[in-house]
Amino acid sequence: MIIIKQGGGKIISGASMKEVPNILWLEEIRKEDISSVGGKGASLGEMASIGLPVPTAFVVTAQAFRRFLIETGLEKKLFSAYDKLDVEDNEALEKAAGTAKAMVLKAKMPPKIRDEIKAAYRKMNGGSLIVAVRSSATAEDLPDASFAGQQETYLNIRGDAALIEAVQKCWASLYGARAIYYRAKQGFDDQTVNIAVVVQQLVPSEKAGVMFTSHPITGEPLTIIEGSWGLGEAVVSGSVSPDKYVFDQRSEKVVDTLISNKKVEIIADGDHGTKLADVSPARQDAQVLANEEVAKLAMYGKIAEDHYGVPQDVEWGIVAGTFYILQSRPITTIGNNKEAKGMTGQKQSAKILVQGQGAAPGIASGRVVIIRDVKDTGSVKEGDILVTRMTNPDMVPAMRKVAAIVTDEGGMTCHAAIVSRELGTPAVVGTKTATNVLKNGQLVTVDGEMGLIYEGAIAQAAPAQAAAAAQQAVTGHAPIITATSIKVNVSIPEAAARAAATGADGVGLLRIEHLILGLNKTPGWFIANSKEQDFVKELHDGIKIVLDAFPGKTVWVRTLDAPTDEFRNMKGGENEPHEHNPMLGWRGIRRDLQSPDQFRLQVEAFKQLWKEGYENLGIMFPMVSHPDQFVLGKEMMRDWGVDVERVTLGIMIEIPSSAIMIEDFIRAGIKFASFGTNDLIQYTLAIDRNNENVADMYNPQHPAVLSLIHNAIQTCREYDVECSICGQAGSDPKMAVWLVEHGITSISANIDAIAKIREAVARTEKRIILEAARSRDAE
Ligand code: PEP
Ligand code: MG
Repeated sequence: MIIIKQGGGKIISGASMKEVPNILWLEEIRKEDISSVGGKGASLGEMASIGLPVPTAFVVTAQAFRRFLIETGLEKKLFSAYDKLDVEDNEALEKAAGTAKAMVLKAKMPPKIRDEIKAAYRKMNGGSLIVAVRSSATAEDLPDASFAGQQETYLNIRGDAALIEAVQKCWASLYGARAIYYRAKQGFDDQTVNIAVVVQQLVPSEKAGVMFTSHPITGEPLTIIEGSWGLGEAVVSGSVSPDKYVFDQRSEKVVDTLISNKKVEIIADGDHGTKLADVSPARQDAQVLANEEVAKLAMYGKIAEDHYGVPQDVEWGIVAGTFYILQSRPITTIGNNKEAKGMTGQKQSAKILVQGQGAAPGIASGRVVIIRDVKDTGSVKEGDILVTRMTNPDMVPAMRKVAAIVTDEGGMTCHAAIVSRELGTPAVVGTKTATNVLKNGQLVTVDGEMGLIYEGAIAQAAPAQAAAAAQQAVTGHAPIITATSIKVNVSIPEAAARAAATGADGVGLLRIEHLILGLNKTPGWFIANSKEQDFVKELHDGIKIVLDAFPGKTVWVRTLDAPTDEFRNMKGGENEPHEHNPMLGWRGIRRDLQSPDQFRLQVEAFKQLWKEGYENLGIMFPMVSHPDQFVLGKEMMRDWGVDVERVTLGIMIEIPSSAIMIEDFIRAGIKFASFGTNDLIQYTLAIDRNNENVADMYNPQHPAVLSLIHNAIQTCREYDVECSICGQAGSDPKMAVWLVEHGITSISANIDAIAKIREAVARTEKRIILEAARSRDAE
């Protein structure tokens, strides 16, 4: 039982409160001011202080928040709301959090603070500017804020009333249930934790992109700028091939310009964030930046690089001729691009400390932090290298912060590998010895492609995504259209936007157990504690985020599939059966069919979504081994009011029996089938997919596996049933080529693999057409 700490902490003293005003403008802020303005505020202030054109902003300081608590009397009342709270008691926690949040939201902001915020806002642009209001955490080592629910951001805020409300909402977010829970778990004294709020002009960039202030690999004084129309997100996410400009700082000239065909842009969408839009034909091939603009951006880049002392990766935007620098951070990792080969020399001379399987591409350097228990994740800092036996859902907040992840156990399809790929964080799994060989605080470089961990920081590098974008710029091709649908796999809703930005034709696998695992409670817990509707809501809300990111495109949601051991550490996990081999155990559809309540609640979430008009939602049953299971699942859904003939229901082919009996499944009415090769391989070859000792025998291209896949594809083709793949093998271009040659209808790959899979598929399709034409000619 974890009782929340009361008192004893150091509340900001009267002296320091007098010194720090309620409002600080960016120009007044330096990086040391983190305890007053939070991490976000401090870094923006530092950039503004060196003359970079950062969008105008002020910070409502942590001291303003503290004064608010004191003057409203909340400082005492608030904490008595959860005096001696046992945060493990979910009901009590939710209640205390609800009370505390309501108290903060309802309290009247002291007039002085309110007036100062309004005055600052008016000073920005007469009080009508559209701003973003963001929480800025002041305790650097708080757990990842978005997970803890305290990194609230409110976009598109305009006017006094909306602004004051948004500030107060940011304050209240400090008392979300998860935030309280994690602070308690990590020993923070809740009475002393503060929050700052950044109020910043929202820049509706007309053109934007990224810049490496020096060559990311060689370090030459060449500034490389990529730019495209609309918001910079399009370039960062790689959803567009941007123009590329190279500026030589020695000659102060643009030495290379590559104009790409820019078909799409990301633009503001009313009050609802952003949307992808088509670029008008006239602008598609137009040059984004004039030479003078390139030179000006390069100059800002140089200012940042000189100030920070290392080459920077900068995000920029231009609107109505005004330049903005939105973010500047050191170049720390390198992508899997051709230029990266430039590192080979450095790598060869570096000492390899441990090796495993490269599970998520990218290269990153940082200090090792060894985590032996989830309780210790509080010590994980931004940019660390997380080293652990195996990650589990509890660790996801820490995984979001780190520069790379290394595990002793696991293979390409383990939890660490799946989550790292979606987070875009380099990862090496199955090293066997990393937690013994590596030392806390040691500086290492992780190569998530090759599966190697080197001693020291061996490369000067570029962020994986930006480097991938740079690679696209080099090739500068128009978007590739393929006849085979290229879909994407998603497990965590926060990856939905990145997944959609790949331009994928839909989601070929949404693993919903990750929505539940992240809540730290088993489905059984929700049922046993009469929290069924909470469970339905979590599923509904998580799935909806993904559906919304893919309007009009199919999203295949897979019903729950987590082996019992993955549930063990969660609340309710004590009731999970101990199985000798959870991979062969009570998981997937077989468990749902025997646990009708668990299945029914999932179906309830699906039903709500269908009712809301999400026609693009399809449901996929995992781990089916006999058509009877599909029929039974379908009948249960019918009993619960689903129009089963109308909605799209399909299966995963993960067990050899389902590949062999595919024709019977088709007769039973499946509308699609998708190869879950992660399991299909382990069950065909008797190789535990998570066991690093047999990982080198785990062969996706084993003739027996290929034969099962080939036969199932042919049968699906005969009956005109969509046949897809969503296992990891679908993210391997070699396998994609083989699958296209054998007639697969669609391929669902990981976010990081979409571009290369699309290219491999397009080439194969063209080759097939060319060969057919040639053989016709020869006849
Ligand atoms: C698979 O088995 O290939 C699959 C995609 O499912 P999971 O990895 O979640 O078992
Ligand atoms: Mg599977």
